[in-house]
Amino acid sequence: ERKRQQEPPKKLLPRPPIVTVMGHVDHGKTTLLDYIRKTNVTAKEAGGITQHIGASVVEHNGKKIVFLDTPGHEAFTSMRARGAQVTDIVILIVAADDGVMPQTVEALNHAKAANVPIVVAINKIDKPNAKPDRVKQQLADLGLIPEEWGGDTIMVEISAKTGLNVDELLEMILLVAEMNELVADYEANPEGVVIEAQLDKGKGPVATVIVQQGTLRRGDILLFETTWGRVRAMIDHLGRNIKEVTPSLPAELLGLNDVPQAGERFVRVEDEKEARDAIDKYLEKKRQQEMQAVKRASLEELFEQMEKGEMPTVRIILKSDVQG
Ligand code: GDP
Repeated sequence: ERKRQQEPPKKLLPRPPIVTVMGHVDHGKTTLLDYIRKTNVTAKEAGGITQHIGASVVEHNGKKIVFLDTPGHEAFTSMRARGAQVTDIVILIVAADDGVMPQTVEALNHAKAANVPIVVAINKIDKPNAKPDRVKQQLADLGLIPEEWGGDTIMVEISAKTGLNVDELLEMILLVAEMNELVADYEANPEGVVIEAQLDKGKGPVATVIVQQGTLRRGDILLFETTWGRVRAMIDHLGRNIKEVTPSLPAELLGLNDVPQAGERFVRVEDEKEARDAIDKYLEKKRQQEMQAVKRASLEELFEQMEKGEMPTVRIILKSDVQG
């Protein structure tokens, strides 16, 4: 109790929601992301075009929303498999002319398993054969009851193509974000998650990260799970060179020694030695695991040959293997 009183109070401040769009193929994920980016990114400020870094930041009524650019549940699940949960809200998009399809159900199950709130976008409402009520009924059968039917799932009828009601959808995202009280400590030691990374011929390893706590600054030394590096440069979603990144926001980082994997976490460390030691340990452990895997594989091969009667000397080999 006393210890708790001595700790300096954390300065928790609101942070933008991080949103992933999921849904069945062809139901309009890409079209929706394109429309939102085109109309809500403050491109004036950047004097140009949005840059692909793996996530976009849009502004609605002066509030930021971060969209992960990889729609669909593959990225979502592969990140979660590594224990990284970056998504705050899932937009489940369902085409009103097609209705709930297998990947709609899959996406719904992933979001539920991750305990991430879902906002439903019933898309292609501009089509003459759109049947939004049928979609609502199908979703209600799966346990997502629309608000207007007394449930608690927000459903917005939109057209990603014409932009109809997309503003309202963004409004609802901000509302859900507010209800979920998304906050972060902007002064904590910076940490976050890799959302994508690759090797660039000119720039070397390039990783897009999302900061989850603290403020990441150029020059910081970052320890990832499989590599480390001193941040040489940071580029935001508009291609601008930036000096710092605050929680929920994405940035492309240069200066890493190797390419990390999507879903890897990072923290800032005090000095290069700390980072180098940690990675050396990781590499040594990995080397040992690989050697054991090779040993196991060759032993299995021996057993197989023994079963076939092709390896009469296997006992001797095994004994020597154990002894030395
Ligand atoms: P994704 O596979 O979920 O990313 O779907 P896309 O965004 O690629 O959309 C699939 C097709 O549906 C494309 O031909 C889009 O132009 C079309 N589409 C997407 N949204 C709408 C919409 O609101 N209205 C209509 N009429 N077509 C749409």
